[in-house]
Amino acid sequence: MEAAENCSVKVAVHIRPFIGDERTQGCKECVTVTTGKPQVQIGTHSFTFDQVYGNDGSPSSSMFKECVAPLVDGLFQGYNATVLAYGQTGSGKTYTMGTSTKDDCQTGLIPQVMNELFKKIETLKRQTEFQLHVSFIEILREEVRDLLNSEPVGKLVTPKGNAVKTAVPGRPPLQIRESSNGIITLAGSTEVAVSTLQEMATCLEHGSISRSTGSTNMNNQSSRSHAIFTITLEQMHKTQSISAVNNTPDEGMSEEYLCAKLHLVDLAGSERAKRTGSDGLRLKEAIHINRGLLALGNVISALGNEKKRKEGMHVPYRDSKLTRLLQDSLGGNSKTVMIGKMVNRDLISTEMQKMCQQLQYLR
Ligand code: ADP
Ligand code: MG
Repeated sequence: MEAAENCSVKVAVHIRPFIGDERTQGCKECVTVTTGKPQVQIGTHSFTFDQVYGNDGSPSSSMFKECVAPLVDGLFQGYNATVLAYGQTGSGKTYTMGTSTKDDCQTGLIPQVMNELFKKIETLKRQTEFQLHVSFIEILREEVRDLLNSEPVGKLVTPKGNAVKTAVPGRPPLQIRESSNGIITLAGSTEVAVSTLQEMATCLEHGSISRSTGSTNMNNQSSRSHAIFTITLEQMHKTQSISAVNNTPDEGMSEEYLCAKLHLVDLAGSERAKRTGSDGLRLKEAIHINRGLLALGNVISALGNEKKRKEGMHVPYRDSKLTRLLQDSLGGNSKTVMIGKMVNRDLISTEMQKMCQQLQYLR
């Protein structure tokens, strides 16, 4: 296994505590954490990660501090980054990312990122000019949709005049573009300029509400889409230039421009198509969902394999919209954190073992 610190891909798991009826229904736990190690044990198998959270009541702030705060720091140095939450529906991906529309996730990672970002800007703003933009999109059935501009063009109206919520998308999907220097952009996506924490929080809230939530047999509110909240930080740093002659400050000021983005990704449920009772459109979705997840796994494992990377191994970014969109923020100088969300129930211990194997494959 590669040394975690030097690796641009970090894999952490979070074990969700029992929620709702799980405790009263007598669910048994299947995952134990090895004391003093970032390791979990399921049955006779053990799996080691970069970090393991949960079960011991560790607060979400330690996950933020150890896994995500370094990426926020990197943003100020011009490095792109991606944080992804992976796991089956109900494992708490949306809760962990903080994109829930319920009030229960103020401690989610995105709200913590926003706090940290504005705290840092406050301390640096005297010598640096900052500009922040956010976008919020989702990928559903291999189509990219804008969550900050998702008002249907024409609303269906009942005879009584009540607007009907329709699944018919109002706007055409967005197209992914790549510039000659490898920067990925989304043509026509809403990029909201924000200058306060409150403005950014409003974008998060609006987008979360517009996020599509179709139903499957597993969960009425199942998220079948990948949702990507992106923060772009531009900086103009002014410094007094140093004289090349005697190494002392001279008259002039030099300016340094940096631009970096952080993608915060709430992935679609990792359950396989056949378990969700998929047919017709749902099956089409499941295939597309899996295309993104499959491509993501292939891309991250290709990146994590330093030896193969040095040999110029092909990284299959183009296999899905998800990997295409994240292309300039996965690999290279960018940092990636994958958070595997585990459900600690003995009934699904085999699935949890499989998930751990998949996650280990990424390291
Ligand atoms: P997912 O997005 O993976 O489908 P959710 O984030 O919607 O899962 O979580 C499913 C349910 O479990 C939600 O009602 C959520 O509030 C709850 N939940 C998830 N994680 C936790 C947690 N750590 N503590 C308490 N409740 C949680
Ligand atoms: Mg969700």
